[in-house]
Amino acid sequence: MAYQSVNPYDGKVLESFEEISDEQLETAIATAATCFESWRKKSFAERATIVAKAAAIMHARVDEFARPVTMEMGKLFDQARGEVMLSADIIDYYAKNAERFLAPEQLKPGSGEAEIENSPFGVLFGVEPWNFPYYQLARFAAPNLMAGNVVMVKHAGCVPQCAIAFEKLWLEAGAPAGAYTNLLISYDQVNCVIDDPRIKGVALTGSVEAGKMVAGRAGQNLKKSTMELGGSDAFIVLDDADLDKTVQWAVWGKMNNTGQCCVAAKRFIIVDELFDSFLDKFQGALSGLKAGDPMDKTTTLGPLSTEAALVKLLDQVKRAVSKGASLVMGGKRIDRAGAFMQPTILTDIKPDNPAYKEEFFGPVALLFRVKDEDEAIALANDSEFGLGGSVFTADVARGKRVASRIDTGMVFVNHPTWTTPDLPFGGIKNSGYGRELSSMGIQEFVNKKLIRVDSIDAPA
Ligand code: NAP
Repeated sequence: MAYQSVNPYDGKVLESFEEISDEQLETAIATAATCFESWRKKSFAERATIVAKAAAIMHARVDEFARPVTMEMGKLFDQARGEVMLSADIIDYYAKNAERFLAPEQLKPGSGEAEIENSPFGVLFGVEPWNFPYYQLARFAAPNLMAGNVVMVKHAGCVPQCAIAFEKLWLEAGAPAGAYTNLLISYDQVNCVIDDPRIKGVALTGSVEAGKMVAGRAGQNLKKSTMELGGSDAFIVLDDADLDKTVQWAVWGKMNNTGQCCVAAKRFIIVDELFDSFLDKFQGALSGLKAGDPMDKTTTLGPLSTEAALVKLLDQVKRAVSKGASLVMGGKRIDRAGAFMQPTILTDIKPDNPAYKEEFFGPVALLFRVKDEDEAIALANDSEFGLGGSVFTADVARGKRVASRIDTGMVFVNHPTWTTPDLPFGGIKNSGYGRELSSMGIQEFVNKKLIRVDSIDAPA
């Protein structure tokens, strides 16, 4: 069953869902295409009323939305609540700001008049991951709905209840049928949707492998796409960093969402003089995490999203060690029911170790010892990924200089990479292309149309 809620805390199947038929898919696309024709004609104010209502509903019923997140993919309940509020903030942000972001831009040509008008593409298709089951949907849906597009989404197979709850949210907020459509579809049907001429743009957040499939298909159809893919973010600790505070952020940057963030700190790159004390404090903090029921407020270590995710990560760690990495702590599943993994630290990872290049999606930290700032930057950039990264230093100017030399889409100084509605999010290299959120995210699927007014005088 491709769409199934399984509680990773205890392995119990909660609910299974059938994929829709090709006929139902056809009806859904037709409904979306019809909806677009009226939705595009609504004013920003009319669209904003509905979009702001969706945000208000989420804000008013945080626990109700958060519960399926915890039940389906094991996020600690407080973090799930945080995700619901962040998603509502994103939706509200676009309700309030879209009109300003998409206002026509007056140009100053040598003669006559010219302006750039922003008009919607049409029906868009998104393929989204489970790790932030609402946030990922909000950052695709909200800007595009406000721009006058309508959206169809294939969510990840393990979070169908969240997918359905998010679709219901829009209907409850007053959006017309077809404005937001959840699609429980197979990979073959994903291809059919991308091929369909009524679909005008494609967005994917997920792994590099899925990105290549979906971007490739969109490319064959000459359709614009955005790709938000994996990462292996560097967390650089320079010699002047405040070690205690840096370690606290290291734990947060690694363990938030049990390490299952695209922008989780994954490669800790620490200058030689601080390496041993960093490792000592970091290991101490990770050892203190308490595995348990993610609904319980006292739990600080939740399960991974699925048993399959756990098996994959355990295998990656085993392979890394067999190729020469040192296992400082962890590396095994926790001896209890559910998809729990011990917090894990690996060191001595050489360039010929597969771990050097891979993304570890869970509570596994890779630690690297470097001699100085230049070596830290070179190591940070020696990656096929280019999503986020962070630099810890007492000298902000130095932090900014280092940040400028790192080849990624986002670098934070003295904070792990994170997200707010008003900051652009996205990467380069194998981490994808395009940006979501902020004023940039709403520009991806609009036609920047030039309207020129010239003199009618005949050519001389
Ligand atoms: P995934 O396996 O690539 O899945 C993402 C989505 O793509 C799911 O809906 C999945 O459906 C679908 N999918 C996968 N292969 C497909 C194919 N061949 N054809 C059509 N659809 C396909 O990724 P994941 O393991 O769920 O998520 C973790 C990855 O996402 C990590 O690499 C993480 O870094 C990345 N991520 C990136 C960002 C960002 O903004 N850059 C944000 C969050 C996560 P099924 O679930 O049905 O397989």
